[in-house]
Order: sequence, then structure tokens, then C-alpha cells
Amino acid sequence: MVKISRINEQILNTLPSPCWLLEEHLLRANMELLKSIKEQTGVKILLALKGYSLWSSFDVISSYLDGCCASGINEAMLSSEEFKKQTHTYSPAFKESQIGSIAKISSDMVFNSPAQFKRFSALAKKTNPSISLGLRINPEYSESPVDMYNPCGLYSRLGTTLKNFDESILEELEGLHFHALCEQDSSALEKVLEVFEANFKTYFKHLKWVNFGGGHHITRDGYDVQKLIELLNDFKSRYPHLEVYLELGEAVGWQTGVLVATVLDIVDNGMKSAILDTSNEAHMPDTVIMPYRADVRGSSEANIKKFTYRLTGNTCLAGDIMGDYSFDKELEIGDKIIFEDQIHYTMVKATTFNGIPLPSIAILRENGEVDVVKNFDYDEFKDRLS
Ligand SMILES: *Cc1c(COP(=O)(O)O)cnc(C)c1O
Repeated sequence: MVKISRINEQILNTLPSPCWLLEEHLLRANMELLKSIKEQTGVKILLALKGYSLWSSFDVISSYLDGCCASGINEAMLSSEEFKKQTHTYSPAFKESQIGSIAKISSDMVFNSPAQFKRFSALAKKTNPSISLGLRINPEYSESPVDMYNPCGLYSRLGTTLKNFDESILEELEGLHFHALCEQDSSALEKVLEVFEANFKTYFKHLKWVNFGGGHHITRDGYDVQKLIELLNDFKSRYPHLEVYLELGEAVGWQTGVLVATVLDIVDNGMKSAILDTSNEAHMPDTVIMPYRADVRGSSEANIKKFTYRLTGNTCLAGDIMGDYSFDKELEIGDKIIFEDQIHYTMVKATTFNGIPLPSIAILRENGEVDVVKNFDYDEFKDRLS
């Protein structure tokens, strides 16, 4: 899939700074690919709000996808207010006080353990008789290379192992859910599916749906879409009574937009550091946690191009550093720096650490207009604390 950014000088000059800028046509390109998968397989695809909650773009997404997967009451409310299709709510552990409000607005609820299922299924059904109840299982197989992102790691709390499966819930159970991938190709799904099927297929006849979770990096260049389609069709041909869901966060927002910042000052204490009006720690936390180095448009690794700078944040944290990047031209105060692919995960995790204002949010519409949909002010900082 060729994805070409339409950001130009004129657009940069009209934006506030710092600012996240979503490019609507890039989001649509991702949606078109997902739509073609839906059409060729009949699976249903949900948006995972954990990775992407930019609700002012839901009008585009909801015309392609089937609903949202929410991780608790707040995301369930956002799905029900702004997406208005299915809401599948899963939480590692639900609180009794929230079961009623979650069940009322969810089409599906997925429990993490048979104990939670048994404690809350009656209350959920009483609140919403048409709700469909599922269980997250742990296939105990994953190819995720990093423990932080491996739901099937040693002692993982996420999902019920085969050993802990409790057949007494089968009467109420309508679906099984697993989430075992992270930024992975369809070959990883194939392996997880084999284990899932071998261990849990005896229960499939009781069910209406299965959910293969997220982590399918479908919209990344080089992802083997054809293999995904074959796997899904193969599964569906063997279990035609089962609805199959995928729930995607990263693949929805993948390479759909940027974070634009401005150079405020340049200091040279042995090497040139450009201080930007943004922050690694506060505005790009996923680059710290994952971790990864964000690409900067027009730059290379240090010392490849003529002028190397350390790009740094505007908080008082010494380590608020994006990394060392080289450019063809010397940076000047007022120059714009464009961090690539900053829409998924990093946006939902941003904070006002050190009192630094959150980036504004803008959408470059397909007709070329720039909508600044949100500016954050002092209240955003103050209201979080008391
Ligand atoms: C995080 C998460 C997702 C989405 O994962 P992506 O890697 O963003 O596609 C889906 N389901 C569950 C249960 C998750 O925790």
C-alpha cells in the first residue's frame, strides 16, 4: 500500500505547535484494506480504543468497522457515545460497582477468569438480557519477543489457561477470546490458532463467536494479507456457526499522522541540542516505554547528513531526549520538526508532566482543509489534580 503524506509548508504554517495531525486520507487507506479483508472473509473487525481513541475521526472508521473493543467503563462509554455500533468490553478484572453501567452499554462482555464470569454473569444478563458473554483464554503460546507485550508470558494474569477452564460456565458462555500477538504477521497468528484450536475446539460447539484479539499488523508494508485471508477462511469453513472478530488498535492508526513541534532554542554544550516545544516523556511516552526511536521527516541517523542535533524535550527531566538525528540544513529557531507515525498509542498515553501543555489535535481532511479539533489549555492541567 502506497501511503503519501499531504503535509506541506503551508499546512505546517497554519498549525498550532505542538500539534498532532491526522491525515484523513491515510486513515481511509487503512480502512479500505480492512474493508477488503472483511469482504473476502466475512469476519468482523473492531477498533481497540486502548490504542486509538481519536473520536473526532470515528465518522470515517465507523463506516468501515463493526464497533469498538473497550477496556472498561470509560472506553465503553466513548464507544457507545461516539462510535454507536457494537461495544465489546473486556477488563482484566471488573469491579462489581461498574457491572451494571458497563453491561447496559455493551453488546458483549468478556471476562478474564471463570471466577469473574460466575460472579458477574447473572448481574450483566439482568441489566442487559441481550448481552453476549465471553471468556478470555490464554493459549499459552505466543511469539511476542518482549515480556512487556507478551500476554502469554510466564505467570501472565491475562486470560484463562486450559487447566483453569471451568466447564460449569459453558451454559452461559457464548464466546472465546484470545489476544496473543503484538505487531505481528499472519504467520504468528497461524501458530497461535493451531494451539487455540487444538486445546479449545471441544468447546466451540457451545459458542456463537471467537475473537482473535489484536496485534495483527495488517496495515504495515509487507504484512502477508493473503495468508490472513486464507487462515480466516479456513477457520470459518471448519466452524461456519462461529462469528470471527479481530480487534485492532495499532493497525487502524498505523502511519496515519504525525506530531509537529517547533525548535525553541539550540544549545551547544559539546554537541548541539535542539530544544523543542514538545516532550518525549509527556507527549511520546510510547517511544520511551516500547521503546522505539521515532522517525523524523527529512532526517537520518546521527552523522549521516551534514548537521547532527540531539532533539530534546521542554521538560526539566534530563533524559527527555528523542535521540540524535542529522539534517541536510542547519536547524534554526522556529523550524518545524515532524515526528512520523505518532497517532496510535502515543496519543492515548500522553500526559501533562511538568505542566507542559498537551499538543493540539488537528485533522487534515480529504478536501484539503485543516480542522484544529482541540486545543488544550491550563484547565486540562489543573483539573487532573486537586
Ligand atoms: C491492546 C489490545 C488490543 C489491540 O492491540 P493492537 O496491538 O493495538 O492491535 C486488542 N485486544 C486486547 C485485549 C488488547 O489488550
